[in-house]
Amino acid sequence: MIDLHMHSTASDGTLSPTALVELNLNSQVKVMALTDHDTLDGQQEAEQACRQQGIHFINGVELSVSWNKHQFHILGLNFDGANNVLKQGIQQIRQIRDERTLKIAARLTRAGIENTLQGASELAGGGLVARPHFARYLLQQGVVKTEQEAFDRYLKQGKPAFVPTVWADMQQAVEWITQAGGDAVLAHPLRYKLTGAWLRRALDAFREAGGSAIEVVCGQSTHAEIRQSADFAERHQLRGSVGSDFHSPAYQWVKPGRLAHLPKHIEPVWQDWTEIRNSIEYPQ
Ligand code: AMP
Ligand code: MN
Ligand code: MN
Ligand code: MN
Repeated sequence: MIDLHMHSTASDGTLSPTALVELNLNSQVKVMALTDHDTLDGQQEAEQACRQQGIHFINGVELSVSWNKHQFHILGLNFDGANNVLKQGIQQIRQIRDERTLKIAARLTRAGIENTLQGASELAGGGLVARPHFARYLLQQGVVKTEQEAFDRYLKQGKPAFVPTVWADMQQAVEWITQAGGDAVLAHPLRYKLTGAWLRRALDAFREAGGSAIEVVCGQSTHAEIRQSADFAERHQLRGSVGSDFHSPAYQWVKPGRLAHLPKHIEPVWQDWTEIRNSIEYPQ
């Protein structure tokens, strides 16, 4: 009933904010955050649709950040969407992303695939371009048979069209979020290819910078993964968040709101969101 990590056409999701809210309504989601990559463009539309459907809307974003050459995704939740520090920070990341987009296209050209800049931009509907748009274009052109294959052959780290990128500084991004009155959440903690020691160091830096929570329950988390993430949260005195990372109905293995509950000993990231706490029944 609460899902704090989802994407729309404002970034690499395939549903408009309005269509996403309608899907949430049908999926019994009562509280949602739209957390598009590096943009707030979908927020107003989602908020308005939520108001019409009686769903609690939480402002959200998923920021691309770097720390010691490692890339992380930091969710910002429940911030003031008008805050200029955060808006300028997002603008900065957006510029880095737009430059990277040109480089990805150039590398795909070198790999013998034409017109990917135009193709991916069209699929992005003039909005932010992310790697899934390139993957969808490659699929559309018959270069690959699935989006996953596009990542595996071209787009992921170590493949010809991967562009190493220095994103916003992690600690700085956490500060943008907290200055805007929001909670910073480390997204999908087990999806980074890091040793335990490096992840612990990253979590220390995250917490030190003012980070609030770890995404303890993600879309496809197993019980073992939830336990492991909860251990990280406990050790670093962080709260827990829950989010499906929903992108598209075409990815049938992830559905909005279909999430396990947080372990009882983990404080939820919404602990201090009084209105939410008072309006939902969450097993604690
Ligand atoms: P970007 O922020 O442009 O680098 O794109 C990141 C997005 O691409 C993620 O949020 C996922 O939606 C998708 N993605 C990243 N890595 C993979 C992968 N290895 N396989 C499939 N999709 C991926
Ligand atoms: Mn994505
Ligand atoms: Mn992510
Ligand atoms: Mn995401």
